[in-house]
Amino acid sequence: MDSFRHKGLRNRLVKEISNKGIQDGKVLSAIGAVPRHMFFESSFIQFAYQDKAFPIGAGQTISQPYTVAFQSELLEVLPGQKVLEVGTGSGYQAAVLCELGAKVYTIERQRELYVKCSKLLPKMGYKLRFFLGDGYKGLPQFGLFDRIIVTAGAPQIPEDLLTQLSLGGMMVIPLGGGEVQVMTRITRESETAFSQEEFGHFAFVPMLKGIVK
Ligand code: SAH
Repeated sequence: MDSFRHKGLRNRLVKEISNKGIQDGKVLSAIGAVPRHMFFESSFIQFAYQDKAFPIGAGQTISQPYTVAFQSELLEVLPGQKVLEVGTGSGYQAAVLCELGAKVYTIERQRELYVKCSKLLPKMGYKLRFFLGDGYKGLPQFGLFDRIIVTAGAPQIPEDLLTQLSLGGMMVIPLGGGEVQVMTRITRESETAFSQEEFGHFAFVPMLKGIVK
């Protein structure tokens, strides 16, 4: 259930991330629209509208709202675009992408999280496609994608994902194998040429290979 109180807390959160530098009005509205408390166990609901990452089980985290907004802003999603998310996790970023009007394909390597999200998000009214798989491989049978967003720290650029980007398409990915990653945006300029921009440091859980059954 979403209540008046939750909406109030969410408006405060939107102001907070706007003060931290997020400017895209569509992204701020999307953050303002997603009931983040519904991604939390009831005993932790008081943490839902703090601008912090939070553990969601299986050793994973729901990303900090500021980070979700930052990546969403860099992604420059237009309504109707096909977006691949690597690392479904809690499903919160996927819900934000839905609010931005994207056709969302999200892939998670841990079955437990995949099962949880593929029940929760449709119940919340979001329509998107869930996959259990290894994000390093992407979803070649569903590409090309206008946008790809990776929400785990990648030690290097996954080559298969580059080939699944449409011409002019963009991928936002935190790059770095250590504790800290550099937020990177890669644009497919032509069949073979890619450009790369960097946007500061963030800390993500690592992007790992294979599936956890
Ligand atoms: N987008 C999420 C953030 C989750 S944390 C959210 O909004 O909550 C990152 C997630 O990436 C974890 O759930 C982790 O299991 C997943 N992950 C890590 N490596 C992966 C891979 N190779 N393929 C798919 N998912 C991966």
